[in-house]
Amino acid sequence: MNDCIFCKIAAGEIPCTSVFEDERALAFRDINPQAPVHVLVIPRKHYKNLTALDASDHDLMRHLLHVANVVAIEEGIAMDGYRVAVNCGLQGGQVVQHVHFHVLGGRQLSGELG
Ligand code: 5GP
Ligand code: ZN
Repeated sequence: MNDCIFCKIAAGEIPCTSVFEDERALAFRDINPQAPVHVLVIPRKHYKNLTALDASDHDLMRHLLHVANVVAIEEGIAMDGYRVAVNCGLQGGQVVQHVHFHVLGGRQLSGELG
């Protein structure tokens, strides 16, 4: 059984506040926002983390970054600036084991994740 929380969100089994979706990706608001805008961009397909993506996934990686960009524009943070962050593995602080890009903005960010 797949008990990945982000796979369940992608399948519509766990509710989320979606801000973007297409056939490959979705973006939704983080449940514990660290900034006025804090959106997570995920692939619908399960990958454990960034390291699990390889050369055959380059188009998907590019797409996820594009979605992060679109979200930043639509959320109104692109002009003032924002951050896209990926936590990978234990020392990277990754908690949810389904690759995701954090899109953070709406305040001055500094340090680590600000
Ligand atoms: P990580 O530390 O793995 O990079 O980030 C995981 C993020 O997922 C955290 O910022 C956390 O608040 C968020 N998160 C965890 N569970 C849920 C959930 O069920 N729904 C939403 N929207 N965000 C979640
Ligand atoms: Zn998953």
